[in-house]
Amino acid sequence: METQQVTAEFRALYGTEPEGVWAAPGRVNLIGEYTDFNDGFVMPLALPHTAQVAVARRTDGVLRLHSGDSEDGVTQIRVDDLVPLAVTDSWWIYLAGVVWALREAGHEAVAGGADVHLRSTVPTGAGLSSSAALEVSLGLALTELHGLPLTRPQLALICQRAENAFVGVPCGIMDQTASACCEAGHALHLDTRDLTRRQVPFDLAAQGLALLVVDTRVKHALGDGAYAERRAGCEEGARLLGVTHLRDVPYEELDDALAKLADERIRRYVRHILTDNHRVVQVIGHLDAGDTRAIGPVLTQGHASLRDDLRISCPELDLAVETANAAGAYGARMTGGGFGGSAVVLAEESAVADLTRAIEAAFEAAGHRSPRVFPVTPAAGARQLV
Ligand code: ADP
Ligand code: MG
Repeated sequence: METQQVTAEFRALYGTEPEGVWAAPGRVNLIGEYTDFNDGFVMPLALPHTAQVAVARRTDGVLRLHSGDSEDGVTQIRVDDLVPLAVTDSWWIYLAGVVWALREAGHEAVAGGADVHLRSTVPTGAGLSSSAALEVSLGLALTELHGLPLTRPQLALICQRAENAFVGVPCGIMDQTASACCEAGHALHLDTRDLTRRQVPFDLAAQGLALLVVDTRVKHALGDGAYAERRAGCEEGARLLGVTHLRDVPYEELDDALAKLADERIRRYVRHILTDNHRVVQVIGHLDAGDTRAIGPVLTQGHASLRDDLRISCPELDLAVETANAAGAYGARMTGGGFGGSAVVLAEESAVADLTRAIEAAFEAAGHRSPRVFPVTPAAGARQLV
């Protein structure tokens, strides 16, 4: 989507000029899954796909929200009337929630309201965090327009607060931090305990490599209660092991820890969290050593752990990973919440066409819905475009 078009659409809609256009990316998590609520490590990268918002401030306390990707017309609501969880089935609550959360954090300037027009190229509901892209794009726009004293990580926390408290989705801090803080050519090592961050070089093109996203375009209903169940299971594991979070059990003590757990289900969850946290450390080691290809098997081990220990995979994700690896990828794993959504595949750039065909053919032979397979490069985090 061209920025000029977003501006032109804003003009046609509201009859005035926007004060600027801001973009924030979706993300894909390279490694470290379900580790965030265990105070562990994650390693997302920003996608080239972004949400773009054209924004102009108002002074009368009115918020007008519109998406060029939705059939809905303009939603008009007074900032004073924004109430958490009052609306749950509309797209615009992700934007309204950011205004609410900024105000809750004491940034009263946003109470004047705004006109907002959105366009996004981030696939929705594919586990690529289209929701965080919406939140962070508007969050950055309002921060810069009003000159709010917010750092990128603080902005991410406000956007997470919007999604947790206003929208009602119990997400961790990864998605918003990735969208706000990622840098092009890097993956972001985020410690979800203290929010320390490091940009880890992940320049695929320079090494002739490609990262493919396989959007399975399925979302199994099973996933609805599973997140809360896994989360509760991990908390139970931590309690049984005498720590506040599983992050506090060193990887070297994995076997001892498992021996202390009688319940097979809790043992599996604990094993996944400890090994996946360790896999983040392994991936960083390989990337820092310049050996990007070596992360492939670590990704595939991560998939096996999500499939067998955490049990959040599904036939479509397993097929994507197995087919990619059989067709010569260096490694692959499901990414995100599971039970559908997307997988990532690391492969030689020259193998992309063959891999894509192999995955599409395997899905067709299995009678699955046809997947969307596309290469991604680690892109920049949120920024003002014009
Ligand atoms: P994910 O973040 O993994 O893509 P979510 O369910 O968290 O999935 O967020 C998807 C929701 O975000 C959509 O159902 C919609 O409400 C909103 N959304 C995302 N992109 C757009 C868009 N371009 N226009 C309107 N709403 C959008
Ligand atoms: Mg989301």
